[in-house]
Amino acid sequence: MSALPIFPGTVDASGRPATLGVMGGGQLGRMFVHAAQRLGYFTAVLDPDAQSPAGLVSHHHIQSGYSDAQGLAQLAGLCAAITTEFENVPAAALQTLAESRPVAPGAAAVAIAQDRIQEKSHFTASAAESGVMAGVTCAPYAVIASPDQLQAVPAGLLPGILKTARMGYDGKGQARVRNAAELAAAWADLKRVPCVLEKLLPLKAECSVIVARGWDGRIVAFPPQLNVHVDGILAVTEVYEGNMPPALAVRALTAIKSIANHIGYVGVLCVEFFVIDDGSEHGALVVNEMAPRPHNSGHYTMDACDVSQFDLQVHAMAGLPLPAPRQHSPAIMLNLLGDVWFDAQGEARTPDWQAVLALPGAHLHLYGKTDARPGRKMGHLTITGADVAGVKATARQAAAILSLPGFEGAE
Ligand code: ADP
Ligand code: MG
Repeated sequence: MSALPIFPGTVDASGRPATLGVMGGGQLGRMFVHAAQRLGYFTAVLDPDAQSPAGLVSHHHIQSGYSDAQGLAQLAGLCAAITTEFENVPAAALQTLAESRPVAPGAAAVAIAQDRIQEKSHFTASAAESGVMAGVTCAPYAVIASPDQLQAVPAGLLPGILKTARMGYDGKGQARVRNAAELAAAWADLKRVPCVLEKLLPLKAECSVIVARGWDGRIVAFPPQLNVHVDGILAVTEVYEGNMPPALAVRALTAIKSIANHIGYVGVLCVEFFVIDDGSEHGALVVNEMAPRPHNSGHYTMDACDVSQFDLQVHAMAGLPLPAPRQHSPAIMLNLLGDVWFDAQGEARTPDWQAVLALPGAHLHLYGKTDARPGRKMGHLTITGADVAGVKATARQAAAILSLPGFEGAE
């Protein structure tokens, strides 16, 4: 086991430069690599895809499957500590790596996050055990893993959303169902894999919180993000003072801290919440799901905060101090899906970067993916500025130039 902290720019006994590794080579891995390299670390990415966004920019790219023993041994051999950039990395692979290297987050936490059934029991247990989740519970739900469980679904859960317990993301593996017949058909469509049926809630808004927790249990947090999803995919994140009622923000922060503490989490953790209309002035908070890694709703931190979620991912895994992040500019992040690369007639085009890059406070991030497909996350655009009104006005212009959905920026 390597000793922590692992300082950047150092060389170990066998002459190897301090190297940090990541399981997965998507855009989150790429931004992790950028943050690690800026600090002076060498990096290694394990991803089977030769063209993976993170593999393309890393010192080392191990092109192997996530469970491949040789690939994992190579990663452990190169790296002083290892993290992950997606929750569907096999927990057993993280377990193997953890036998010889610090791995953050650990296999147990990732295993919880990759299974909605476990995730929901964990949320419920966090609430019960700590008593500090500030009354934040998950949506009413039932597990459907057998025909008996399908039959036993209480009518009160309909209309609802049927979600596969595993491997769902960006609204994939989900079906909205109005009645028992639609539920049965949807479960059959999903090949009768274990699922959860959640009651369809009247959402007033959606938000998320990102924290980083160190090996010593210290937690630092970013301010809560207000999110808009379109077709189950994040479209817009807005973060500035007053983006949501302060009472809800405090409750969300309290909840995520008890969730992280409950499993002794190490690394960057994001928890998504719904704000539902319960007749009260601001609405009630419901915990939706967690991601054991940096999150799309935290990309604004790279341009609007003094330390980003990726910086904190590096700090946490390497055992470096965790400075409390400070947001220095109001920010609106607009996701750029592959749709932006097509015009209204479906013809391929290059988005009007000339106009976008002329906007003040516009920060364009593209992930190095050359194949634009509708719904595919290609990049994002963060708008920062001196004040909220200015940021909203610029975001509105950007959204108009790129024909982006989900942002009206109403004042
Ligand atoms: P994913 O893993 O694909 O992000 P989520 O469970 O977060 O799955 O669902 C995606 C989106 O679908 C949410 O952000 C929300 O907009 C909507 N949604 C999910 N569950 C519910 C629910 N119980 N009630 C209303 N809307 C929901
Ligand atoms: Mg989600």
